[in-house]
Order: sequence, then structure tokens, then C-alpha cells
Amino acid sequence: MNIAVYSSKAYDKDFLQKENTAGYQFSFFEPHLSENTAQLANNHQVVCVFVNDEVNANVVASLSKLGVKLIALRCAGYNNVDLNACKAHQINVVRVPAYSPYSVAEHTVGLMLTLNRKIHRAYNRVKEGNFALEGLMGFDMHQRTIGIVGTGKIGLITAKILQGFGTNILYYDLQPNATCDALGMKYTPLEQLFSCSDIISLHCPLTPATQHLINKAAIDQMKSGVMLVNTSRGALIDTKAVINGLKSGKIGYLALDVYEEEADLFFEDLSNKAIADDVFARLLTFPNILVTGHQAFFTKEALAGIAHTTLQNITDFEQGKPLVNAVL
Ligand code: NAD
Repeated sequence: MNIAVYSSKAYDKDFLQKENTAGYQFSFFEPHLSENTAQLANNHQVVCVFVNDEVNANVVASLSKLGVKLIALRCAGYNNVDLNACKAHQINVVRVPAYSPYSVAEHTVGLMLTLNRKIHRAYNRVKEGNFALEGLMGFDMHQRTIGIVGTGKIGLITAKILQGFGTNILYYDLQPNATCDALGMKYTPLEQLFSCSDIISLHCPLTPATQHLINKAAIDQMKSGVMLVNTSRGALIDTKAVINGLKSGKIGYLALDVYEEEADLFFEDLSNKAIADDVFARLLTFPNILVTGHQAFFTKEALAGIAHTTLQNITDFEQGKPLVNAVL
């Protein structure tokens, strides 16, 4: 079985090869999968992709012509895959629905604490011998109200960690969750969650229903000075509306691990280039925002889990077993 691995980095190679007890032939390609790079999958039955690979209808048609039978996502989200096109071309799609949700939950809380207590700014100051505290004042997390949107695996763990600080947790999901209720979290309609929370953390998937969930109307309902945290998918947030919220002071803090147009930015070293995305460049000018480049998942445990499940998915497919992690 030949596997074309797109958007691959040295760490993907290491972890996939470590798990490759079946002896599959990998071709590691650094570029994203796109209409321009689909041809690289010639002579491969399986294409292995990540969050910013473009698996649109044209790409799927090209892969089908090349004989690709399986698309194996190395991630949980599949918003970048045209599932109808895959179905039409009889290409199976599998994903990694769970891999250390702790990785993302812990990073989320790390972002909240860093942004609140301005640890990133303090680090730079101290390096320059500046020990002044002006501008570094934070707030106690204790007794703050945190709104969690989406209480699946990651949202629930994030909420549990935050309960350790003595916070009050409001949550919204498509329906109430008995585990959350038993832990004392309060199921709250979205509008009320927006208006009552000091910190709002997004953990729902990107779907047509959640695209730009955080738009001007949502921001208008929020508390003045709210902290907004997105470690889920960039397009949950209407970035221009959030920039206006930062300019007016309505949004007091913004932490992002994901960005709507991240595909042209994240996972690459662009430190010697001009940033072409003016909206992103504007975001970076605010003193009260913190951005990481889609690294919330990036722990040893998560990468080992991703590699293990990806190869198990491929083996199940090869052996004609039920695809337990099929997206379709
Ligand atoms: P999950 O499927 O376990 O949970 C998602 C939850 O969102 C579910 O409870 C679901 O009911 C809920 N949901 C769906 N639609 C909703 C809506 N319209 N409003 C509110 N809630 C809704 O997923 P998970 O493993 O917890 O992952 C959550 C998200 O985190 C993923 O979709 C992915 O986009 C993101 N993620 C990011 C990283 C990263 O490195 N930054 C890594 C992994 C996952």
C-alpha cells in the first residue's frame, strides 16, 4: 500500500514511521494538497492529509482519476473535505476523532493564563532588565464566569481544568450534557452565555451553522472587556468583527490558536517575509492579543495518537474491516 502524505513535516515523518509496523510505503510531500499538487499522488492508493489541505471537488476528481481509494485525515475536523465529491467518486474518508484532547484543553488554559497575566510581555521585559509592573496587571480567575461553547471531548476537559480555579462554568452545546450537569456546569442558551461570561472559549466544530458564530451581533451581546479564546477552527470567528471589537475595547483580550485564513501562514517559517494578509497583520498590532500557530495539538502524546489511529484506519481499510473512524 502506497501512502502519499501531504503537508508533512519532520515530526509527522518520525511519528508515522515509528508506528509503521505494517511496512507501508510512504511518500512524504511538504506542500499542501491542492489542485496544483494532486498529481503527486499518482501510484498511491491512500492520501494522508492535515487541517489546511484543500480536498475540494476538483482535487477529489483528480485523486479519483489517479486511483486513490482512501483519504486518511491526520486530524479530527474534516471541514476542508468535500464529502459529496468523495461519495460520488467512491473514495472513503477516515479521520482521527480523538487524540489527547488534553493537549488542546491544556493549551487553551495556557493561553488564557498567559493573556490574563501578560506572561508573554513579562518574559520580554525581564530579558531586557525591565522589572516594572505597570501594564502587567491581571485578574483572578477565581469566581469568574467562563462560557464554553461545545462540550465534546476538548470543551469538557477545558471546563474541568477551569473548575479547578474556582470558576463558574456556563456551557452551550446542541443539547444539554448529563456529564457537564453532574459537574455543576450550567447549560445556557448561547445569547445568555455571551452576555454573562468573562471568558468565552470555543470548542465546537466548524460547520455551516457555526461559521462566523462570533460576529458583530454576538460581540454586541458580550460583556465589555470579555476574553475570547479560539482553539477550535478559525472561521468560527468573523475576524473583521473581532478587530472592530478590539478597537472599541469591547473585546478586552483575544487568544487564537487558529485563524480563518491560516492556510497561507501557519506551520511555516515566514520570519524573513512580509505578511501579505493585512487583516492578520492588523490583528498582531493589538497589545491584548496572543496568537499561536495552530499548535494546541502539538504534544508527544497527541502526535503518537494521531499516527497510531491513522495507520490503524489504513490497515482496517486494506483488510476490508469496518472503518470505525469513517467520516463517510
Ligand atoms: P467533539 O466532536 O468531541 O466535540 C465537539 C462538540 O461541539 C460536540 O459536543 C458537539 O455537539 C458540539 N457542537 C456541534 N455543533 C455545535 C453548535 N452549532 N453549537 C455548539 N456546539 C456544537 O470534538 P473535540 O475533539 O472536542 O474537538 C473540538 C474542535 O476542536 C474540533 O472540531 C476541531 O475543530 C478543534 N481542534 C483543534 C485543534 C488544535 O490544534 N487547535 C486540535 C484538535 C481539534
